[in-house]
Amino acid sequence: MEFAKKNNIKMVETALGDKLDKWFEWKHPPYLLGGGVQFTPEEIAAKIKELYGDDIEPDPQAITFYIRDKFRPDMLKNVRVALTSANAIAADDGSIVICENSGNISLITRLAEKHIVAVGITKIVPTFLDACLVTKTLSRINKVSQAYISIIAAPSNTSSVQGKSVQGMYGAREVVVIFVDDWRKKAAKENLIYKDLLKCVGCKTCDFICTASRAFGNVFGSRYGLGATGIIREYIHHGIEAAVKAGLFLCTGCEKCTNWCPVGTDLSEMMKSLKKEATNKGLCPPPLEEYRSKILQDKNPFT
Ligand code: SF4
Ligand code: SF4
Repeated sequence: MEFAKKNNIKMVETALGDKLDKWFEWKHPPYLLGGGVQFTPEEIAAKIKELYGDDIEPDPQAITFYIRDKFRPDMLKNVRVALTSANAIAADDGSIVICENSGNISLITRLAEKHIVAVGITKIVPTFLDACLVTKTLSRINKVSQAYISIIAAPSNTSSVQGKSVQGMYGAREVVVIFVDDWRKKAAKENLIYKDLLKCVGCKTCDFICTASRAFGNVFGSRYGLGATGIIREYIHHGIEAAVKAGLFLCTGCEKCTNWCPVGTDLSEMMKSLKKEATNKGLCPPPLEEYRSKILQDKNPFT
């Protein structure tokens, strides 16, 4: 963002939910159903009036059509670089697989001159077939459909003039993939508490069924996402105190996340290890600490 500002590059958010969060300067983790769901149609209509001076009906359909009419033409004319993530990258043929519902990603990645994909190294899977299985896992388990699945295997190209291969017909002339390691290789090499998170494909099933997420919503999560995965990521980047602040001890230890994970990520075990570390450092919330002491001393939490 800083680089874009300094170089006069206009960044445009294309996902509606994230656009709404930006408009309202939302500082908390997004809700489970997606960005922006916390704002009422009346609030959104009022915000549109405030930002663009337009009167629209406070109705989801009217709001969606307004956004489409207002921003789609600009996207069609002015997108130069598309910046996205990806859901899987096949090691055997380099295919990039991206799932979405709105069509904004497939639209801008075709329109841009350059498509940049920034993606964690854990999204690399052995074969194209594995990448397809990941997309199926994402769409089936948490019942959020993926209306569009894009497979990008190369820059747009043609060989129609005398058989000479030329890149950049109608789609992106250039596709750049940036692999992000960050904490991942270190976790594997040093067998760290959160190593099991390397298996995660991001399907969000653990959030949908989590006892704490259901009770506390986005209070149980961090800037990196909702639920246990968000809290573990907070720990990775900012340490145990930050994980406690993000709601570590709201986890009931019910193990539903582990039992429902389609790829066998043992989230509840990781949460247990983090609670142990927090408790050893004196970060356990006082009521729980009292409860623990009674169990240890009197073998009875109710004395
Ligand atoms: S931990 Fe498992 S259930 Fe949770 S998002 Fe990752 S893959 Fe899905
Ligand atoms: S063990 Fe914790 S994180 Fe996992 S489902 Fe239960 S409350 Fe949620």
